[in-house]
Amino acid sequence: MQTKNPMEFFRNLPSKQCAECGQQIQEQHESYLMECDYCLSKKEEY
Ligand SMILES: [Zn+2]
Repeated sequence: MQTKNPMEFFRNLPSKQCAECGQQIQEQHESYLMECDYCLSKKEEY
């Protein structure tokens, strides 16, 4: 038997926080993203 799908684990999380600024991330991104819109947009500049 395998363990649960990792996606299940992410779905069970109550909320995510941005790894950069600690802001709460709304569930509008794919689960692998660990940063908020603001920090992501900063990163896209380079
Ligand atoms: Zn952020």
